[in-house]
Amino acid sequence: MNLLEREIKYVKGVGEARAKLLASELDIHTVADLLYHFPTRHIDRSRFYAIRELNTDMPYVQVKGRFVNFTIEGEGMRRRLKATFTDGRGMMECTWFSKVDHFAKAYQPGREYVIFGKPTYFNCYQMSHPEVEEYDPEKPPQGNQGIYPLTETLRKRGISMRTFRVAIASIIDNPAFEHIPENLPAEIVKGYGLMPLKDALHNIHFPESHQLLQKARERLKFEELFYLQLNILRFARERSCKIQGHHFARIGEYFNKFYSEVIPFDLTGAQKRVLREIRSDMATGMQMNRLLQGDVGSGKTMVAFMTMLMAIDNGYQASMMAPTEILATQHYESLRPWCEALGLEIRLLTGSTRAKARREIHSMLEEGTLHILVGTHALLEDKVRFSRLGVAVIDEQHRFGVAQRARMWGKNTTPPHVLVMTATPIPRTLAMTVYGDLEVSVIDELPPGRKPVETLLRFDENRNDINRLISSQLSEGRQVYIVYPLVHENEKLSLKSVEEGFERISGIFKDYQVSMVHGQLKPVRKDAEMQKFVSGESRIMVATTVIEVGVNVPNATVMVIENAERFGLSQLHQLRGRVGRGADRSYCVLVTKQSAGPDTRRRLNVMTETTDGFLISEADMRMRGPGDMEGTQQSGISFALHIADLTRDGQIMTPAREAAQKILDAYPQFYAGAESGGQGLSPLLSIESLRILQRELRKRFAKSADWSQIS
Ligand code: ADP
Ligand code: MG
Repeated sequence: MNLLEREIKYVKGVGEARAKLLASELDIHTVADLLYHFPTRHIDRSRFYAIRELNTDMPYVQVKGRFVNFTIEGEGMRRRLKATFTDGRGMMECTWFSKVDHFAKAYQPGREYVIFGKPTYFNCYQMSHPEVEEYDPEKPPQGNQGIYPLTETLRKRGISMRTFRVAIASIIDNPAFEHIPENLPAEIVKGYGLMPLKDALHNIHFPESHQLLQKARERLKFEELFYLQLNILRFARERSCKIQGHHFARIGEYFNKFYSEVIPFDLTGAQKRVLREIRSDMATGMQMNRLLQGDVGSGKTMVAFMTMLMAIDNGYQASMMAPTEILATQHYESLRPWCEALGLEIRLLTGSTRAKARREIHSMLEEGTLHILVGTHALLEDKVRFSRLGVAVIDEQHRFGVAQRARMWGKNTTPPHVLVMTATPIPRTLAMTVYGDLEVSVIDELPPGRKPVETLLRFDENRNDINRLISSQLSEGRQVYIVYPLVHENEKLSLKSVEEGFERISGIFKDYQVSMVHGQLKPVRKDAEMQKFVSGESRIMVATTVIEVGVNVPNATVMVIENAERFGLSQLHQLRGRVGRGADRSYCVLVTKQSAGPDTRRRLNVMTETTDGFLISEADMRMRGPGDMEGTQQSGISFALHIADLTRDGQIMTPAREAAQKILDAYPQFYAGAESGGQGLSPLLSIESLRILQRELRKRFAKSADWSQIS
């Protein structure tokens, strides 16, 4: 059997129990999965750091010294082992949250150890669950060592960096490793001067030199980007030659009437341009798949509505889908008066729509008397059948899975035109890849007269200032948001901070009603609390990030963001967009700790310096890497990329894309949906190479088969 396909439980140092853990935590099942669990970086283990040198921006470091004492604290779940560690000059603290008794016995005070971990700071420098080795002066320096991404659970259950190193070393030492199959066509490996797969895998885990590590990285990045591009481009080409769409030849009565008689303002230049782009898409006879990016408040909804009018003018229906009931309702409320003015039928369909109204909607849809249906996921139910769906608008795309968008499509034989709206601006380099075959339109201009939100960076110590601002805005009749971060690893902790914030705020602002919303609330309660705030009955909203998307309360003028350092910039930008929607001056206060490091301050200062969503998302991507960017999660890219970095690997992307293009030029059979690639007439690749391509595409993108249907 192929070494790569072997189950990991048979690998040295793994076994049944750890294999299960690795499968559930990291989705590692086979030897190949393990080999493709790349170190995120390499550290120089030939150097010991002094405790005095440590800072929290450091990655994993090693410190040599002695444990001074061990104490066990807490009870039950909170039981933990604490140890003081010294290198002779400074002191630090190590903490273990599990296997407390084991670790308490394992290490002796006074003996010399090397500890290895990521430094954090709370009163003093700390490491939790460090790796510990007895110091061995005989041991040769270890040079470059890979750092593997581990989850907290794995660490607590005893799976360490060492587990990975031992397991991977044993695979590479296996004689069969010499014969693992290449996964790029030989012509490409040679043509682009790439390192062969087995050398690359060897060097990424155990680099023989810095240069070889570099070559290994390049090769593995190329491989990822190449297949990503091949996959994106084959769908793009297929669509451009195959997928027919409704042909909207004319701009008609409703559109013109709305434009000249109903809207109370002029469209911005950007809105006009985007409408032209959309219009020309829908007049080609091919299906439109367009992403509409625009900052919060830039007027996307208006563009979406006018797009729907184009469909209606050509005798079709339109739908608009939003990720939450609140948002769907808000869209419905803002579109309804326009529809009334035009004499169009519009309905709202959500999970809480009553059976009677629901039945009416179903029949109106099928008869074709309903022009626009707005709603939530409820639109995807089988019973919802349009007679002639011409355009499907999807708001806040990142909240919907790809598969759901595909179902939208499945509703008609000729697919509707699709307009995806997002307020999360994605830098163009990323957009090109994530939405490699979606056309992108950008509204890069805000309607006139908007006052930019005044953004302030404040520290915990400035509470009085912050409260004064809140108080003066409340007394002018305005409303206030106070947002706490979700602490992903620790739901209890995030709940606690919201609840404490709620208590504190309710105590200070006794004269006002305060709402609270967080993830642990039942949806019904959540909606009720939200509604109270939307209606103005409660004046302060204390919440986790559930309010991030789209809620529109123009009377809210203050957004306080607690622990702002825990948010990504794009997220902060989204939150800030919740205020500044009315005519009044608005404020966004970012609260962080006085002790925040220089990186944090630099990041948060981006927010105080600009309100341009694109600048912010570019800065965000540079600082965080694209993996965390909203929008990449469901796009298929998150599992496609392990090592390549879209922000930095542009120079590898270009040849990888070019290679993919050449192959598609020579072998149109690779277009999506074509049953068999290969057997082409062109002599570009050997039969063996074509088999490799087919195999890899299937393997890598099986999970994202739905791509073929939407994006
Ligand atoms: P988005 O969906 O992009 O966040 P909306 O479409 O909700 O933005 O628009 C925000 C607000 O601006 C709405 O009240 C809308 O009516 C208004 N608006 C949209 N376009 C214009 C315009 N060209 N001029 C003035 N106001 C506009
Ligand atoms: Mg909107």
